[in-house]
Amino acid sequence: MTHARPTILQNSLTNLERATFLIDGEVPAEISDKLRQPVERIELSIDPQLSDGRRHGYCAFVVRHSTALGPSKGGIRMTPSVSLDDVSGLAMEMTWKCALIGVPFGGGKSGIVADSEQLNPLDKETLIRDFTRHAIRHIGPQTYVPAPDMGTNERDMGYLKDTLSSALGQATTQGCYVTGKPVILGGIPGRREATGRGVAACVVEALKRLGRKVEGATAIVQGFGNVGSVAAKALAEYGVRLIGASDLHGAVYHEKGLQVAALEDHVNHTGTVKGFPSGMAIDPAELLTVPCDILAPSAAASQITAENAAKISAGLVAEGANSPTTPEADDILASRGITVIPDILCNAGGVYVSYLEFTQETQQEQMSEQEVNDRLQRRMTEKFNEVWRLSEERKISLRDAAMYLGVKTVCTALIARGRLS
Ligand code: GLU
Repeated sequence: MTHARPTILQNSLTNLERATFLIDGEVPAEISDKLRQPVERIELSIDPQLSDGRRHGYCAFVVRHSTALGPSKGGIRMTPSVSLDDVSGLAMEMTWKCALIGVPFGGGKSGIVADSEQLNPLDKETLIRDFTRHAIRHIGPQTYVPAPDMGTNERDMGYLKDTLSSALGQATTQGCYVTGKPVILGGIPGRREATGRGVAACVVEALKRLGRKVEGATAIVQGFGNVGSVAAKALAEYGVRLIGASDLHGAVYHEKGLQVAALEDHVNHTGTVKGFPSGMAIDPAELLTVPCDILAPSAAASQITAENAAKISAGLVAEGANSPTTPEADDILASRGITVIPDILCNAGGVYVSYLEFTQETQQEQMSEQEVNDRLQRRMTEKFNEVWRLSEERKISLRDAAMYLGVKTVCTALIARGRLS
């Protein structure tokens, strides 16, 4: 029987339902309805004039799920299939992620329905600038602070900042309107690497807690982009061996290990892991099922599903991506004794360092990369252990424990605001 892949929003709502069930009795009953609904859900139609001289129509979305803890925070996703529902689910995930990792933000997300790989650099810039002009009313240090996500990067955040500052008639913006921007424009060193480094920090803590050796452990990374490649590099520094990597175009494998720096060079030259000379080609779907100690899905959503969860042969799944494991697959992995480090914990390093960028810009300070990395390492370790302890105490999965902590924090803020009695 084939199962339809659940959407990101369905995954998020199921995870929320499980968390509210666990919290039952600790917060008012009407909470569940409140937490399901975003504060704001915007659809935009934009039609920038591209380099062929013609106007092209694009849909874009901005969702602010919560403002209970502070301004909404979350990246801009640019993919051909991103939908308003995806953006709503991702914005909701950002709410729990920010609350869990302890930064004073609510969850938000944007989406632009476009293929970032197919657009030439000039057209992508034009599209980002046009999106910014259309979304300007929804962006600001007190409302929604965007950042990079799948399909967007540091350079795009530079264009976003420039478009905003010209629209506002200021050489620079007062306060932080966007994170993940170039350092020269008020960005913070180490932001680009933060998500991947955070994934590695969680993996190392998890292996210790599970009583497994870090040095010599084997890893497979799905998605060798900004998150997966940095996680692989950071793990290699601990002696972890990368034995497989995949991306949209293909996958490579070698049981003895792939040289991470050489693979990165190959990707920089060719745009894909495919064809890496010292690896063997393998089907990307099959790579997920190869035995290894650590599997880090760091690409798209709903990759580990009821279809393939029984075939996953990793000891530990580290979710570098948002929502890569469906709730049904979660249950299958748990029944097989496979530990999953949930996305809202595992990939929270990005938004944590975004918070450092936000405070740095607000206070007109400068932080060094070493300081950023030390703070990131400390926060990830501390939060990982908090989640781990709760999961042991209550005998629940790490995902349920992380969701419990995130949702409970948001409820506490809503009660303190008098929004819940
Ligand atoms: N896009 C990243 C995420 O999903 C980072 C968001 C941010 O820094 O605001 O966590």
